Amino acid sequence: MRPFPRGLGNRGRVEATYYKGHAGLTLLLTSLTLMALPPSDSALQVLILSTALSTLPDIDLELRRLSRHLHHRGPTHSILFALMAGLIFGYLLQYTYGEARWFLIGFISATWGVLSHLLGDMLTYHPFKPLWPLSQREVALKLCSADNRLVNEGLLILGGLALTFYLFKASGAIALTAPIVQPL
Ligand SMILES: [Zn+2]
Repeated sequence: MRPFPRGLGNRGRVEATYYKGHAGLTLLLTSLTLMALPPSDSALQVLILSTALSTLPDIDLELRRLSRHLHHRGPTHSILFALMAGLIFGYLLQYTYGEARWFLIGFISATWGVLSHLLGDMLTYHPFKPLWPLSQREVALKLCSADNRLVNEGLLILGGLALTFYLFKASGAIALTAPIVQPL
């Protein structure tokens, strides 16, 4: 994997590729999980927000432009960062909307968005330390490169399909099959 490809334009394209993969994976995992739960406004809000926040750990790519001492997949790629992001985002939403339920929505969305990002990065070649600072152990399953277009765009398509299926299910559109399996 090449964290910093040549040329600004190329870098922008590669980062867009990362975004597709992370957004797709988060949509896929969250939609499948939510299918097992009763549909609600809160569930849909978590689905949208966690997908939007799924690239938050890669903020270190931006921060590197300010300081070359920062390295990609450092502290922002850890469970600690996921929890901190959850607490901050939850507090911000509760402060904005003035209701306690928004803390939970913000906490779950940001924490899960970051954790699903870590799951995606774990599949690639570039190692990172998810248990930092408790453990320095690095993980990298080395199944594909982070900028693999086929994998990233495939995840986005699968995520889009899972979202569509979830929305149909949540709206009751596929309850049409229910009478078939119901006993007389
Ligand atoms: Zn990352």
